[in-house]
Amino acid sequence: MTTHKRKAQATQESLHRIFTIPEAPDSTLGLIEKEISENLAGFLGNHIAAKEQALSEIEKDFACSVIPEEPSFVSDHTHHLLTKVVAQSVHTASPSFIGHMTSALPYFILPLSKLMVGLNQNLVKIETSKAFTPLERQVIGMMHRLVYQDNEHFYQEWMHSANHSLGAFCSGGTVANLTAFWVARNNLLKADGDFTGIAREGLFKALKHYQYDGLVILVSDRGHYSLKKSADILGIGQDSVISIPTDEYNRVDCQKLRDKCLELKKQNIRILSIVGVAGTTETGNIDPLDKIADIAEEFEIHFHVDAAWGGATLLSNKYRPLLKGIERADSVTIDAHKQMYVPMGAGLVVFKNPASVASIEHHAEYILRKGSKDLGSHTLEGSRPGMAMLVYASLHIISRPGYEMLINQGIEKAEYFAQLINQQPDFELITEPELCLLTYRYNPQSIQALLSNSSHEQQDEINQLLDKLTKFIQKRQRENGKSFVSRTRIEVQRYQGRKTVVFRVVLANPLTSNEILNDVLSEQLELAQESETFLPKLLSLL
Ligand SMILES: *Cc1c(COP(=O)(O)O)cnc(C)c1O
Repeated sequence: MTTHKRKAQATQESLHRIFTIPEAPDSTLGLIEKEISENLAGFLGNHIAAKEQALSEIEKDFACSVIPEEPSFVSDHTHHLLTKVVAQSVHTASPSFIGHMTSALPYFILPLSKLMVGLNQNLVKIETSKAFTPLERQVIGMMHRLVYQDNEHFYQEWMHSANHSLGAFCSGGTVANLTAFWVARNNLLKADGDFTGIAREGLFKALKHYQYDGLVILVSDRGHYSLKKSADILGIGQDSVISIPTDEYNRVDCQKLRDKCLELKKQNIRILSIVGVAGTTETGNIDPLDKIADIAEEFEIHFHVDAAWGGATLLSNKYRPLLKGIERADSVTIDAHKQMYVPMGAGLVVFKNPASVASIEHHAEYILRKGSKDLGSHTLEGSRPGMAMLVYASLHIISRPGYEMLINQGIEKAEYFAQLINQQPDFELITEPELCLLTYRYNPQSIQALLSNSSHEQQDEINQLLDKLTKFIQKRQRENGKSFVSRTRIEVQRYQGRKTVVFRVVLANPLTSNEILNDVLSEQLELAQESETFLPKLLSLL
């Protein structure tokens, strides 16, 4: 046999092995399996390096663009993954990682995910998913009921109906928002007389037919950037997402919203959708949904609620009233991969009217035939994993009261942290928590006093230095690897709406203790002293 043939045969044999024979339990992969199933937290703690490496350094390990010509042993490659990827990944499950909406997962998710991946069901059609299809429809039904609270009869009639959908499961809030606007757009610019509808003829002809001079989306200036992406894809352009100013609590100003509706009407510009945000990404506040619903009703406009992050609050009977009015929305986005403790890739949108998805219905000959219950006929995405199983499992295992405890604890922890910040003379709370999210910054007591006695010009100078100091502290803290808060820039009313750099904290991990919160502030106090330029400059102003 030639070397070439021998090599090919060896590759052939090892390919057969990868699909049939599991790794030996004492191999690297086998050991990882054992370790993570017995002690995931310990495994992550041992393998994720505390010290951060610069991204430019890490990039050197990922510099080669050639697909390997030689196969690797699974164990050798696993070792490579452990040292080069896992070690420099982010410990999102750590209770001191309180900067983002991505958090720890319950232990049962890991084996169930493995089952999901092993089954490799494709939810686009029944032929590749079978029981997973009614399961997903039930999950959508449960989430629909959480939002709209229709009666049992409603769900018996619509949940499994072939030509209807109570919603769409998708990869996340971005696709959920896009799906909501897609449905709204196609219902608004539907077939009429000779015109066969926007889905067939496109935006240009649709606007001409309906004689509109434009199509826009209205949302507060705290709206998520995914709305602009949607506007871009839908053909109306990012500039067609019009920001409405917010009040001091980061909630949309309804007077200004109504004025804008009147103004656009005069200009013959049609509003595609008014969006209420339930849980803004940067400050965690909730728009006055009931009042927005009144305005949408008055002008006969589609009302969408972006509750990607805050929607899970509906699971708490105690805090559900904060979202009052959500049940009047035509569509609602909720991410299960945020406050429902499901891994990434689990978003959904629910529709008040189960028939509204007819406007985006698609058929093909080999699947998604007319009258079939294939989920793919009403979703943007094609092939999709069985993620709904993880939401289904979580809803059963944790149950509504369990979720209520998680949600309530998060909110109450944020209240505690806000108090703690208020008690510390050298910190300034920027936005009060409404849910489990707040913003603040380090600001020495003497500087705070100076700020309150300064002209707007001087205030600006001080705030510029404070911005730099906040960035410095946040970066150092992340590099040290003990704890993590994120940072953002938001308009602060008390400084004439100036865009100010702040720390942002999301308290979702149930294992984050009061002690950890104390430590985060202590560490920031120490880090501030390490600043050799910004803090001295600030203090020299006194
Ligand atoms: C996270 C978020 C989104 C986007 O969701 P993805 O799952 O990241 O695509 C949209 N809107 C709001 C309010 C969010 O918090």
